[in-house]
Amino acid sequence: MDGLKKCSTCGLEKPRDEFYNSKQSKDGLRYQCKACTKEAKTKWASDNPQLVAEQKRRYRKKNPNTVRAQKARTQARRLGTKKGRLDADIRTVMNGNIRLIKTHGRDAYQLLGYTAKELMAHIEGNLHPGMTWKNHSLRGWHIDHVHPLAAYSYECPTSNAFKSAWSLANQMPLWAADNIAKGSQIPPPKVAMAA
Ligand SMILES: [Zn+2]
Repeated sequence: MDGLKKCSTCGLEKPRDEFYNSKQSKDGLRYQCKACTKEAKTKWASDNPQLVAEQKRRYRKKNPNTVRAQKARTQARRLGTKKGRLDADIRTVMNGNIRLIKTHGRDAYQLLGYTAKELMAHIEGNLHPGMTWKNHSLRGWHIDHVHPLAAYSYECPTSNAFKSAWSLANQMPLWAADNIAKGSQIPPPKVAMAA
C-alpha cells in the first residue's frame, strides 16, 4: 500500500515518505508525520533543558573525535568569510591587550615601544629574495627571534631581558624550512638573562 497515511497528531493525510520509520508499528512507520515529530521534539527539548544538556554532555564524552571535527569545521567556515576573519583577528588582539592591561597596565604596543607598522617596516628592510607579505605564512616565512625567547628569562615587561627578546633587532624574517636547521645552532643571547 503506497497511498497516503494519516498523521495521528495533525490529522493530515500525507505521502509515506513524510513519516519516519518505526520498528514497533505494523506498517513500519511512525504514527506521527515528520513535521509533527520534529515539533514534538523541539517542545520536549524546551520543556527539559537539563535533560538536553545532559544528553549533549554524554554525546560529547562518547564521541570526542566527532565533536572535535565538528568544531574545526565550524571554525574553518567562520574563518572562510571576510567578516569571520576580521572578527577573529580583532577578538584575538583585543583579548590579548585586555589581559596585558589587567596584568601590566599597558597594551602590547605600549609595552614593546613600537607599533605593528614599525615592526613591519623593520622586517621589510630585511626580507630575503622571494619573501613578500603574501608568502608570510606557516609554510612560507615567519618572523623569527634571532635569540630564541626560550633563551631569555623574565616575568615582567619592564625587565631588560624582555626588552632585548622583543626588540626589533632580535626579530628577523626566516624561511620556515630554515627554522628547522636553525634549531641545532642557537646562538647564545647577547644580553644578560637577569629579570
Ligand atoms: Zn502531523
